[in-house]
Amino acid sequence: MAYEVLARKWRPQQFADVVGQDHVTQTLQNAIKASRIAHAYLFVGPRGTGKTSMARLFAKALNCKTGPTTTPCDQCDSCREITAGTSMDVQEIDGASNNGVEQVRELRDNVKFAPAHGKYKIYIIDEVHMLSAGAFNALLKTLEEPPAHVKFFFATTEAHKVLATIVSRCQRFDLRRIPTALIIERLNLIAREEKITLDADAALAIARGAEGGLRDAESALDQLIAFRGNKIAEADVLAVFGLVSRQNLEQLSTAILKGEVSEIIRIIAELDSAGKDMQRLVLELLDHFRMLLITLCAPDSATTLDVIATQLESLKKQAELATPDRLMRIAEVLSQAEDRMRYSLSRRTLVETSLIRCARATTVSVEELLKRLESVRQAFAGGAPALSPAAPARMEPAREAPAAYGPKSVPAPAAPAPAPAAVKPAPSPVAAKPVAAPAPKGDELAALTAGWRDQIIERVRRIVALAGGVLLDARPLAVQGDHVVIGFDPEFARSLERMKVPNYHNALKTVLSAFLKRPVNVDFKLIEPGGDVDMPADHTLEKASGARAPGSPKTRQEWQKDPVVRSTLEFFNGSIVDVRE
Ligand SMILES: [Zn+2]
Repeated sequence: MAYEVLARKWRPQQFADVVGQDHVTQTLQNAIKASRIAHAYLFVGPRGTGKTSMARLFAKALNCKTGPTTTPCDQCDSCREITAGTSMDVQEIDGASNNGVEQVRELRDNVKFAPAHGKYKIYIIDEVHMLSAGAFNALLKTLEEPPAHVKFFFATTEAHKVLATIVSRCQRFDLRRIPTALIIERLNLIAREEKITLDADAALAIARGAEGGLRDAESALDQLIAFRGNKIAEADVLAVFGLVSRQNLEQLSTAILKGEVSEIIRIIAELDSAGKDMQRLVLELLDHFRMLLITLCAPDSATTLDVIATQLESLKKQAELATPDRLMRIAEVLSQAEDRMRYSLSRRTLVETSLIRCARATTVSVEELLKRLESVRQAFAGGAPALSPAAPARMEPAREAPAAYGPKSVPAPAAPAPAPAAVKPAPSPVAAKPVAAPAPKGDELAALTAGWRDQIIERVRRIVALAGGVLLDARPLAVQGDHVVIGFDPEFARSLERMKVPNYHNALKTVLSAFLKRPVNVDFKLIEPGGDVDMPADHTLEKASGARAPGSPKTRQEWQKDPVVRSTLEFFNGSIVDVRE
């Protein structure tokens, strides 16, 4: 005997066998008992939830020799023919096939003839939303005045695409995704009957992978039997299901890497309506991008990845679309999304916005964007031409700053501090040249603060390139006699250590001395969370309280609350490093 796939072999033959759709079977059985059979029924639901099985079962119940009955006999000619799909009176039309119009026209011509054996002529039209306009119209004419012996059973995954004039003539039933527990129960039953050893974990994995579609679960079991024989473990299932979700994953990650936002939205919508777990999706994406990163940065290690050969091939292909920076940025956004997931009311929205951020991060480099913004700002501030690679835009991964930090920003008092943009960086060797208007003694800190990024860091950078980058994590805190105190927030403790390297240290010392026009030493300090650095009272350091005199510049904390700033930070996934007027 030819092998019969499980989904067909185990197709429910009685209403009692139908899994997870009690609300439908109950109503249909009641209608049969009350002899209130409508002309047309519409079965709506995700794929594999039993729409056409339900239609065939209902047809059998109506046309059984003993029928209409809630328990078709499965013995009479009609029952057997319907089960075998050979009944003259029950015709199945696939709305998705090309000959839909022709079949529907034929249907219209034949509908007037009485059924051959059974009581009813029953037309089951699957994927009815796929019918062409012509077929719809032909169908509609028949539906308007169907002969008493004709019944229509429509099935669709997309009810909104079915003409309203058709829907309005039907009794509609919505089939649900089948709960995991019921699918497992069914799988265990089949396994027992088929003499298959199915691990509990394996059954769970199949059910989870099937996402509420019993037919998918049964097909998966078929595949697994073909793949592993009569003993199936969880690992087998993951391998089999991995192929399915991998496809989605690859589509999605390709869309992200190519910056195709509308494709991302489409795929997420599809996954969401298929009942995919958004959190799991994010985790799987994270894992995927991690593998891409390894493939790209450490191709030698890529062979150790837990992937099959074809997966590795496609990873390599995808990696060509990316740079390590992009991948790390994407992974960062994803892991933030993952963090927020459990507190999020709409996971889908969170996933969408996060993935769009990922996509944008790939199309326009944030560094590049900020560089442009910086030159715009410069142009506004002083009418100066854009500074080329100077004043590098500084991005950090967004960190949750402890609420009561010391002052991250030290806004310059308005009057004596040179506006940063007004003073162009000296074109060549920096240290010796006078760079700013001499600062009155008491305002040295203000001058340092104002010129920190554009002048001091930039000049240090020209002496020791890497030191410039490290200093972006710092800011001047105080001038104490001939000592300048440079502060690092606690999270930048490592940057502080790096600045102690002699040539880094000396570069800064040279630049600061030149800037202040007197020899100074440099001290580095870690800023204590929740408090200021201890220092003499006469220093003009803004307190962390956030309170400020009217008219004085906003503090970082205040900017943090500003809606425009907040959305900008959100968009760029950034944090405020410095506040300047
Ligand atoms: Zn029968």
